[in-house]
Parts: sequence; structure tokens; C-alpha cells
Amino acid sequence: MPVDTSENDESRAPDGTPWWELSIQPGTKAKRFGQERRLAAWLWFSKSVGDTFTMRELRAALGPDIAEDAEHLNRRLRELRKCDWAIPSQRSDGTLAPDEYRLQRKGARLWLDGERAKHNRFAPSLRIRRLVMDQDGSRCRICGLGADDTYPEDGERVRLTIGHLVPQERLTSRGARDDLSNWRTECSRCNETVRDEIPDPERLDEVLAGLKRLTGNEARELLSWVRKGERPRSRVDQAYDRARRLSEPDRAAVIEHLAKRVGENG
Ligand SMILES: [Zn+2]
Repeated sequence: MPVDTSENDESRAPDGTPWWELSIQPGTKAKRFGQERRLAAWLWFSKSVGDTFTMRELRAALGPDIAEDAEHLNRRLRELRKCDWAIPSQRSDGTLAPDEYRLQRKGARLWLDGERAKHNRFAPSLRIRRLVMDQDGSRCRICGLGADDTYPEDGERVRLTIGHLVPQERLTSRGARDDLSNWRTECSRCNETVRDEIPDPERLDEVLAGLKRLTGNEARELLSWVRKGERPRSRVDQAYDRARRLSEPDRAAVIEHLAKRVGENG
């Protein structure tokens, strides 16, 4: 769909500049006009629902800063998704190419003031976030890593966040927003829905080769994790989580108890 360039059109800021070309917020002296606002405006006015686009296309249209690299672009897209935009990538839609995205639904018109707040109405409250994290033992429900852990692949500290199990647009009431079963703890990497552009994706043949070393029981366990897309904490994991939160002397008592139980002396 060609961009409408007639006068008074909504695709332009009061000074006539297309929203996606703004760098300073209208009406301010130097307040930066956010990249996700430019991205939302460009997608809204130059793409129709169902259209696809690539990172290269974004760079050509919006300048290289909007999509410096895949991770950078993913952060912008995440902001849009939080505001009701649906933009699947190959990860959730196998018909897309690795660097391709589909505009499935247009969400908040982020370039306009106040739109973000309107669409963030049903974001979880601080209280809900705390309850959900507690319920999940402050661990990512998907990969099982906790707030004190680091990622095995690069040693970076795990950051936890809250993800929704039901699509955000179906949370149409405060009751739904406050329903704990609608949320789960996720780490920032698992919460990242666009993983196709991670620098070093896994290869199927290598993953399959690694499976050969698993015992039958391990394979069964893995099957259930992969099917569900969740790694539940085992009873041992949960007991460890709780023991870890004990005071030093209480933890020593647990060690003594376990040593006796498994028949260790001293
Ligand atoms: Zn995770």
C-alpha cells in the first residue's frame, strides 16, 4: 500500500514530517521520539495486515539505527507486542523466512500520546508480579533458570519477567489481569518471542545427536518438557529452592539430615 502523502493526512506530524521520520517529539525541544513509535507508525501506514517485511526493508525505510542488529530490532518489536501488535516471526510461523516478519494485527498507535497507556491497561500489577514469581519459585517456567543463575551459553546473569499465558488482547477485565493462572515467570531470553536471529542457533542434527546419550527415562522426561514448552521444577529442585532460603544453621541441619538419610557418616 503506497504511503498517502496528501495534506492533513494522519501519517504526518503537525509539522508535516511523516511520523516515522521524526527524531524529536513534536512540541518538545529535545525529547527523543522513540524508535518503537517510528516503527509502529511506518508499519501502520505502509503495511496492510497480512503483509510481510524484513529487517533489511526496515533499515532501508527507517534508517540503520532502527534495526542495528536482530537483538536491537527484537527489543523494538517486543515493545509493539506489549501494546497489542501481533508480529510473528519464523519461530511462531514456519511459513516465514528466517529474517521475515508478518504484520498480523495492528495495535496501539504508539506515535500518538496516551495510546500506550490505553493498551497497557491490563499489564500485571506489581502485586501480581510478586505473587507469580513466588508461585514459580523465582524461576523461569520455560527453561528452569532462576534469578541467581547465569546462562550456561555465555555466563550472563538471568533476568526474570512475567509472561502471559493467554494472549494479552483476551485480558479484557481487571479480573482476568489479576488471575494468577494467566501469568507465568519467564526469563528475558525465553520471553523473547523472536529468537530466529540469535547469533548461533542450534542445529537439528546436532541436537538429535545429543539425544542419543539420554537414558529412556531422561528421554521420556525431555519429551514432556518439549511438548509443553515448559521445564517444570522437579521435587528435588523444589526442595533445593526451599533449603536454599533457610538460614545458615538451618541449612547445616538439612545437610546433616540428608547425610544421615543416605547413610553417610560424619
Ligand atoms: Zn528462561
